Amino acid sequence: MSDVWTLGIDIGGTKIAAALVDPSGRLHGTQTVPTMAREGRDAVLSRVVAIARAALDQAEVQPTAVGVGTGGQVDPTTGEIIFATALIPGWAGVPLRQRLQEVLGIPAWVTNDVHAMALGEAIHGAGRGVRNGLYVAVGTGIGGGWVLDGRLYTGHDGLAGSIGHVKVERDGRPCTCGGRGCVEQYASGPAIAAEYRRQRGLAEAVTGRDVVEAMHAGDHLALTVVQEAGRWLGFALASLVNAMAPDAIIVGGGVAEAGKPFLDAIRSGIAQYALPTARSTPVLKATLGPQAGLIGAGVLARQGITGNEGA
Ligand SMILES: [Zn+2]
Repeated sequence: MSDVWTLGIDIGGTKIAAALVDPSGRLHGTQTVPTMAREGRDAVLSRVVAIARAALDQAEVQPTAVGVGTGGQVDPTTGEIIFATALIPGWAGVPLRQRLQEVLGIPAWVTNDVHAMALGEAIHGAGRGVRNGLYVAVGTGIGGGWVLDGRLYTGHDGLAGSIGHVKVERDGRPCTCGGRGCVEQYASGPAIAAEYRRQRGLAEAVTGRDVVEAMHAGDHLALTVVQEAGRWLGFALASLVNAMAPDAIIVGGGVAEAGKPFLDAIRSGIAQYALPTARSTPVLKATLGPQAGLIGAGVLARQGITGNEGA
């Protein structure tokens, strides 16, 4: 384990957070500001720079590098945003790594925010000690990230880990990506909410969080719907386990708060559909919560500086 301190930054659609990340993955002096994404890329970029400078000014130990997890697809080599949803208008095309290095004067690394969470969980969270892990975040969408030999695997264009768009049904439910039959339409928070509403015959809006809360309060239909979502996800993960044979799968995001019934349903889906030797792949609940992205961003910078795998 190196003794390098880094600065981690997490850029989301609603807030930007920054903190120092110490060698054991603890956060120090966390600060947050609203993203105010509607003001556009330049305004967002200047808030990122401002929060980074503030964190550096107040740092108890000067960090040697900065790591960033941001919404959008990130070119793993250049650290440029190559695709972004409407969450931060105009964010695509921002040469984030280059800009941060220029203004902060320390080396920078940039990755996708879910990839940062994957790295955080793999190195300092539920996956500690796991060499090859798959992180899956189940919330309003389903994202993910591969950590192989202790390092993020982002694919050649930063797209790797798009677990939500693994197909579970040929020509199935339409998806926001333009395709059909993506597991996100069967196992995400909104999918769980829609299924619960349909089966209850409800007119009013319900969220995935409402269904999870109802499940915890003893609502049997909520439990059934959450378990069915877990089995769909397990079905999708069985194919990924067959293809990649990770040591463990780490499940985070809001829907993971459903806890054991959801995780057990994922496990049973994998047990039913994966190859015999992969059927008992451990499925672990993420442990870092909302801090995972900041911690992972810090780890990304630390690994960049030290070149140590798993450090
Ligand atoms: Zn899709």
